Amino acid sequence: MKKRLFTPGPTPIPESVLLKMAEPIIHHRNPEFREVAARVNKNLQYLFQTEQPVLTLTSSGTGGVESTFVSLFSPGDTIISCNGGKFGERWVNMPRIFGITVVELSVPWGSVPTEEQLLPLLKKYPETKAVYLTHSETSTGAATDIKTLAQVIRRNSNALVCVDGITAIGAHEFRFDEWGIDVCVTGSQKGLMIPPGLAFVALSQRAIAALEHSAIPKFYFDLRKALKSYKEDDTPWTPAISLIIGVDDALQKIREEGIENIWKRHERLAASVRAGVQAAGLKLFSNFPSYAVTPVWLPENIQWKKFNSLLKGKYGITVAGGQGAFKEKIFRISHLGYYDELDMVTVISALELTLNECGFSLTLGAGVAAVLHSLQSK
Ligand SMILES: *Cc1c(COP(=O)(O)O)cnc(C)c1O
Repeated sequence: MKKRLFTPGPTPIPESVLLKMAEPIIHHRNPEFREVAARVNKNLQYLFQTEQPVLTLTSSGTGGVESTFVSLFSPGDTIISCNGGKFGERWVNMPRIFGITVVELSVPWGSVPTEEQLLPLLKKYPETKAVYLTHSETSTGAATDIKTLAQVIRRNSNALVCVDGITAIGAHEFRFDEWGIDVCVTGSQKGLMIPPGLAFVALSQRAIAALEHSAIPKFYFDLRKALKSYKEDDTPWTPAISLIIGVDDALQKIREEGIENIWKRHERLAASVRAGVQAAGLKLFSNFPSYAVTPVWLPENIQWKKFNSLLKGKYGITVAGGQGAFKEKIFRISHLGYYDELDMVTVISALELTLNECGFSLTLGAGVAAVLHSLQSK
């Protein structure tokens, strides 16, 4: 059986990247590695659409976001953190551990924060040092309008605009410089198409200035150290060398396809999956569709365990389950990273067969037809 992964991290890895990472390891303090790091640094700027530094940390995405909390703020600083799901919740709880005062903007799961909700908070807390936003909330498949909210923040406060772009970078349009973003984090096992283990942190000049005033204790995640090494295409600690070699290849692929084409591909694939699941008779979870992942309500009389074991055991397809209150109630199909049109046909056909075997009444092929029509029309 051929195994196929449709989860929003880890995501499938291109064959050429796998081969590169299998080559004998090189040492990181020599010119051979510096050359790779220099190219990675340049191409990361392209990915984030910025002229500013994009730091590479050896950690998962969560560590990347932690590095921003401990490096930018001091105990007692106030930030606004938007929470519409599992990851937004994390960015409310984590900064509190470091003594940061967090004003929470909470929205129901599946929904996204709006200008009307954010503006009064910016006025009420003029001392706010930053606003944290999750671009694509992976637990709910809801995408926030970062461009608009960044404008609202820049016009009405001095707060840094900080974005969890972990499943948005490489799926959604994102322009760090043009949109006035100060901080954006992504992880390697999402849109970058390599295994877990690297985090990437883009910093504006305003964010870089803030690094100097931070009084939260830190060592490994001190972005001042990472920035100093970055200027010499180096890292302060031993980096995950093989992953950096992998991401070098992945970023070259991204450059070849072109970032705007990649955004369009994700939009097109996401639309086809939405058309497919609805034509199969299922309901979408969010009205603000992420181009990275599509959460779908599991029909009431179908058990998640049975559904998932059939999908995985019989068809080799791994999707993600629901999180938090939606565990066993929704499932999530990822189309983030290394996917093409026919992958969408595959996942929807396996979904239809599985639903059919679970006793759900549907016309086999209706979902697949909707995928094909959707792909053809865009
Ligand atoms: C995956 C993910 C994270 C967490 O990243 P880890 O690599 O698991 O630490 C954070 N935010 C979002 C939106 C994610 O999708």
